Amino acid sequence: MRIGIGYDIHALKKGRKLLLGGIEIPYSKGLEGHSDGDALLHAVLDAALGAAGMGDIGDHFSDRDPRFKNADSRLFAKEILAQLKKKGFRVDQIDTIVIAQEPKLYPFKEKMRQSLAKIFAVPPDRVGLKAKTHEGFGAIGRGEAIACQAAVVLQKSSKKTGKKK
Ligand code: MG
Repeated sequence: MRIGIGYDIHALKKGRKLLLGGIEIPYSKGLEGHSDGDALLHAVLDAALGAAGMGDIGDHFSDRDPRFKNADSRLFAKEILAQLKKKGFRVDQIDTIVIAQEPKLYPFKEKMRQSLAKIFAVPPDRVGLKAKTHEGFGAIGRGEAIACQAAVVLQKSSKKTGKKK
């Protein structure tokens, strides 16, 4: 069993879609970024990469690479899952926190959780998602940014390695 943690923060800007965990949330602003700005997927991917000892998302998908301009972060997930699989890892459990003053994420919590379960091929009861505000403090509290934290547990399949554990 391997454990990793991840964190990401993106600025909220007008004229962008708000994507969190692979779903679109209706709001007047969205997360800025070289890719689609999905900070929740980025945090989960960093946690998965950390658990596998495979660096971070920037090592795999540079924010200077024009190929990844406005890229769908679900494709990053697909690529990283394929690399994890090659190394004999599968995602066993995900836990996450989304910190946003606005919009209110409560109505979308279940949809985000189900989406993460689908993207990472994990049963929904092994995916956690907490939506919190920042109690009005700092940039997140002023609604200028959204931050996400994630923890991921990977299991190494014994078949791939030929060992029992
Ligand atoms: Mg990011």
